[in-house]
Amino acid sequence: MGKKKVCRTCKLFTTEDICPLCKKSSFATTFQGRIHFLDTKKSRIAHEMDVTMDGEYAIKVR
Ligand SMILES: [Zn+2]
Repeated sequence: MGKKKVCRTCKLFTTEDICPLCKKSSFATTFQGRIHFLDTKKSRIAHEMDVTMDGEYAIKVR
């Protein structure tokens, strides 16, 4: 099992080598806070963060 990391572009948590959302491979392992979106269409925070796919995201990536 791979270590969880955060995509620098969309802040999505993943264990893959390529981000399943933006297909980029630039990751950070340092982040602040995490938020789990279950229904991004109804979430105002998801809208503000530009999140369109359900999943676990970091609030801030360094
Ligand atoms: Zn991404």
